[in-house]
Amino acid sequence: MSNSSLFDQAQQSIPGGVNSPVRAFKGVGGDPVFIDHAKGAYLVDTNNKQYIDYVGSWGPMILGHSHPDVVKAVQTAAEKGLSFGAPTIIETTMAEKVCQLVPSIEKVRMVSSGTEATMSAIRLARGYTGRDNIIKFEGCYHGHSDSLLVKAGSGALTFGVPSSPGVPASLADHTLTLPYNDAEAVSQLLKTNGNDIACIIVEPVAGNMNCIPPETGFLECLRTLCDQYGIVLIFDEVMSGFRVALGGAQQVYGVTPDLTTLGKVIGGGMPVGAFGGRAKIMAELAPDGPVYQAGTLSGNPLAMSAGLATLELISQPDFYHQLSLRTTQLLDGLNNIAKEANIPFSTNQVGGMFGLFFSEHKNIRRFSQVMACDQARFKQFFHLMLEQGIYLAPSAFEAGFVSAAHSEQDINDTLHAAKVAFEKLT
Ligand code: PMP
Repeated sequence: MSNSSLFDQAQQSIPGGVNSPVRAFKGVGGDPVFIDHAKGAYLVDTNNKQYIDYVGSWGPMILGHSHPDVVKAVQTAAEKGLSFGAPTIIETTMAEKVCQLVPSIEKVRMVSSGTEATMSAIRLARGYTGRDNIIKFEGCYHGHSDSLLVKAGSGALTFGVPSSPGVPASLADHTLTLPYNDAEAVSQLLKTNGNDIACIIVEPVAGNMNCIPPETGFLECLRTLCDQYGIVLIFDEVMSGFRVALGGAQQVYGVTPDLTTLGKVIGGGMPVGAFGGRAKIMAELAPDGPVYQAGTLSGNPLAMSAGLATLELISQPDFYHQLSLRTTQLLDGLNNIAKEANIPFSTNQVGGMFGLFFSEHKNIRRFSQVMACDQARFKQFFHLMLEQGIYLAPSAFEAGFVSAAHSEQDINDTLHAAKVAFEKLT
């Protein structure tokens, strides 16, 4: 059956035909591709067409799809039981591994999604400080909990509803939003509101308004201001964690948050999220402390097995160096092709995470610059690439991902397709 017939059918029983909005291709037009299976760097659709995948399930598939060690770990765990709702050794092993890889995390709690991780971290910060207000940054996405769907990125941005109906105004009032990479704006706001703020939550590398690295000094300044006003600094590393480096963005930029949220890679493709940080703050969490947080399937043995197998493999020496090199190879190639075709274009990269911008500006660092990019051209490029079997994120506001399974040949094939696409761009 064609993708459009499958999508028509899906829309009969699923809102918008999808279980997560960005999958619907609304940001680029056309019908989404229905996936049958995936292996290594490739997705294969229900009509047996193969695509080189730069979405990687929106980040988790850093090893490529269906890595044999990860699949085996899940199979072995499944044979022992799917869920127990009681402690298991693998949960402790996972917690120890996370604390070892991300030293700012002294204690960690597992959840089942990135949304749960950020929602819980914010509740914890509010409980710990006894304050209600939070600061987030425009274009950053931290999942779909009520407090965080205010000027959000990702699908919320793609569909033009960054602040969602259904979020009570009285709750949204507690979320103060500032421009990303604008330390001065934070400093000014804190002069009047500093003692009412529970936490600042930030993507230390923004990946939900395309890929925007922090400007030099931005994260450092947040750290200093949080110390000054007794505010909990939360790095949302759901996307950047185990992606831009083994120790996440906090390792790359040398800034230590109080709490970190994790997701995506930590589950190796299974539903996992986590939040953790200073033991003193984590001690406020139930059952030790009064801040309630729980989950029937939290620390699920299959999810822990996939996650641990993934963390073991990405801990191999040179893993991130190679991943970065592959990503640079892709971006250098794209920049050269764009130049030859005379198309204004630039890229951002942090480790295995990248952004493509149809813009004459280099080093894009601001939300306003992202919004000013040529979206019509991105849409055209997206479809020209898709036709040739290259699967990019179906939105101009999402980061892309290279996996360890992408070979030099895959990158060259992608560049070949890009050359054709850039020549056809109008
Ligand atoms: N935080 C960030 C930085 C994210 O990128 C995402 C998802 N893209 C989330 C939180 C929410 O994670 P999930 O979709 O697993 O709920």
